[in-house]
Amino acid sequence: MARVGVVGAGTMGNGIAHVFATAGVDVRLVDVDEAALDRARATIEKNLERQVAKGTIADGAPGDILARIATGTSLDALGGTDAVIEAATERPGLKFELFAAISEAAPGDALLATNTSSISITEIASNAADPTRVIGMHFMNPVPVMKLVEVIRGLETSDEATDLTVGLCERLSKVPVLANDYPGFVANRILMPMINEAVFCLMEGVAEAKAIDEVMKLGMNHPMGPLALADLIGLDTCLAIMRVLHTELGDSKYRPCPLLRTYVAAGRLGRKTGRGFYEYGAS
Ligand code: NAD
Repeated sequence: MARVGVVGAGTMGNGIAHVFATAGVDVRLVDVDEAALDRARATIEKNLERQVAKGTIADGAPGDILARIATGTSLDALGGTDAVIEAATERPGLKFELFAAISEAAPGDALLATNTSSISITEIASNAADPTRVIGMHFMNPVPVMKLVEVIRGLETSDEATDLTVGLCERLSKVPVLANDYPGFVANRILMPMINEAVFCLMEGVAEAKAIDEVMKLGMNHPMGPLALADLIGLDTCLAIMRVLHTELGDSKYRPCPLLRTYVAAGRLGRKTGRGFYEYGAS
């Protein structure tokens, strides 16, 4: 695997580009938004410096790693890639259209992976010319730190694509865990209802945000409280995932909390906009 394309350069895309470039793979990072590409490059640079300070990469490594990442706004950059990892906004229609375009722009034998948190891999794959090469490769946030990758096969995904994906995870020093194609897979089927319930607790005045997070950290030994985690993930992404769970599973227990909808409507999306359940200074 010499070259990969990463489509979407937001919270997850920059991390995915970071880990591939660190593993010696050339990366073509594509986003429709030029500003997102600039932010991604700055974030990768900052995170590499942090790794140097911690001693997990060599002093001179960031320059070489950054030189492996080329950015652009056109999917034409996917020509010549061996695999594409799509990490664009969590919106079903957007991903369906994007997969049709990605499968045209990428070579006919490239692996096409999606980092979707909740959307059907089978349905995304049906938009590609060859659904056997499409698979879910669900990285965790922050990508350079978290070991898990949930690997999800669609109905038509081939054994070859699955083996290739497992091998890729290992090359990135990640641990692949296989899950079936069901709304939210494992990670978000369990995590998101917990976050949504924490937002209900806040809305109903059960406790203040800090207290809710403190209870889950000290009481359940979670490294981070659910509201702080929601801010890290992005409240728009949390809402999008709850909507998929609610629509696809049809159970009212997955209804998104009205306060979550209100925050998203107000543009309080968490860390990425500087304000969610908490406020964040310029990073
Ligand atoms: P984000 O909002 O931070 O970034 C999404 C990026 O996609 C934006 O920069 C946007 O400009 C870009 N984009 C939108 N349409 C595009 C298009 N047609 N072509 C190219 N780029 C496009 O979102 P994120 O949090 O990085 O999430 C990306 C994906 O990763 C989603 O599917 C999400 O569910 C999944 N995911 C997110 C997390 C998390 O913690 N945030 C964790 C695991 C998986």
